[in-house]
Amino acid sequence: MTPTASLHDVPERLAAELCAADRWLVLTGAGASADSGVPTFREAQTGLWARYDPQQLATPGAFVDDPRLVWDWYCWRRELIATAQPNAGHFALAEIAKLKPELRLVTQNVDGLHQRAGSADVIEFHGSIERNRCFDCERPAAGVPVSSSGPPPCPECGGLLRPDVVWFGEAIPPAALEAAFAAAAKAEVYLSVGTSAAVYPAAGLAEVAAAAGATIVEINPTPTPLSASADHVLEGTAAAWLPAIASTLVEAVS
Ligand SMILES: [Zn+2]
Repeated sequence: MTPTASLHDVPERLAAELCAADRWLVLTGAGASADSGVPTFREAQTGLWARYDPQQLATPGAFVDDPRLVWDWYCWRRELIATAQPNAGHFALAEIAKLKPELRLVTQNVDGLHQRAGSADVIEFHGSIERNRCFDCERPAAGVPVSSSGPPPCPECGGLLRPDVVWFGEAIPPAALEAAFAAAAKAEVYLSVGTSAAVYPAAGLAEVAAAAGATIVEINPTPTPLSASADHVLEGTAAAWLPAIASTLVEAVS
């Protein structure tokens, strides 16, 4: 069954609240990319990599111990992500942002699919697997040819390049945190999409938005710790519900 807007009618009261609000804050997690065929950390552990625990590869310590192993794992993950395409949910969010130019989008995903679907100024909590930076001097390293023969040297300091993602035990980039929490404090609508909403500091965005009086909306196939306090829970996938929300907004302005 293909999920379509006709199968998912946005409840009338929610539709009115969404249409009236200008300042939206949207947080997306792994569920937003599920319909694009991006495997989660655990699902991705197949073939050669099945015997490795992602939580022991995606750490600074693992990179220090065996840079080549970690680099090669990321090369493989990059290949998986390169074959994925943005789904209807990604495109719908980009469309919603055209109607609601004050919308801010925060993602916990590193796959770059929001940007490929046309979303701009995405606040990346966990960085991007598409970029590299230096492990030592932390300078970004755009345009350095990469291959699966281990991490290339940093052109600035000769240190090793690493993917520009946030590893276990590392902090979310302060600029991303600041931008997200500033948006939460002003939000009229807070939309949690495809995330368990259980991990702080991301989980705190909903609390700040709720304290600011925002309508709290959750889209997820299964209940999360946010569900009980959300004003609206839309059970299902991002790829099904976000196009329904976009249609509701389009109909309201036409
Ligand atoms: Zn460097």
